[in-house]
Amino acid sequence: MNFDKYYPFKAVPLSYDIKALCPDISEYTLYFHHDKHYCGYVDKLNSLIEHSPLMQNIPLEGLAMTEDKDIRTNAGGIYNHELYFASLTPQYREPSAAMLGKMNASFGSAEEMMKKISGAAMGITGSGWVWLAEDRKGRLDILVTKDQDTIDLDKYTPLLNIDVWEHAYYLDRQNRRAEYIKSVMNIINWVGAENRSNFT
Ligand code: MN
Repeated sequence: MNFDKYYPFKAVPLSYDIKALCPDISEYTLYFHHDKHYCGYVDKLNSLIEHSPLMQNIPLEGLAMTEDKDIRTNAGGIYNHELYFASLTPQYREPSAAMLGKMNASFGSAEEMMKKISGAAMGITGSGWVWLAEDRKGRLDILVTKDQDTIDLDKYTPLLNIDVWEHAYYLDRQNRRAEYIKSVMNIINWVGAENRSNFT
């Protein structure tokens, strides 16, 4: 995925049919999540920096880590959601042997890693994100960010993320976050995650 993007930002369409993730994520949830929430961040960021040539010269990744809270929130809203929609797939495939090797080296086992990802997602108070990221030595790490903050992209390459805002699951699951996390695990795009790695 290419995040080297500059103003004016354009919403990226879903790479799968809006119904393709059913029953794990409904068409209804995906429609609001993509067309309303995500596209809303695109429109908002464009309007926030339309008169700022300085900000227009900073790529999306930089804007997502800037100090200005409004710009950071909306740029993160774009960056985080584009990765999230790409982190899901209707064509689930188990992680490759190479990816499993990385999981073992970093967490002991794939099961332990999945347990830690679920635990991190369940532990978020309010709105936030869970990330599986790779550091500059190729080691995997699980990170959590609040609101629309993005992880430190100078230190880490994000392989996948999970949106733990209520809008990601409330229409389907109401307050049952654990069900949502379990559903997401059924549709994780491990091929995409591996392609983002610099070490496999
Ligand atoms: Mn979201």
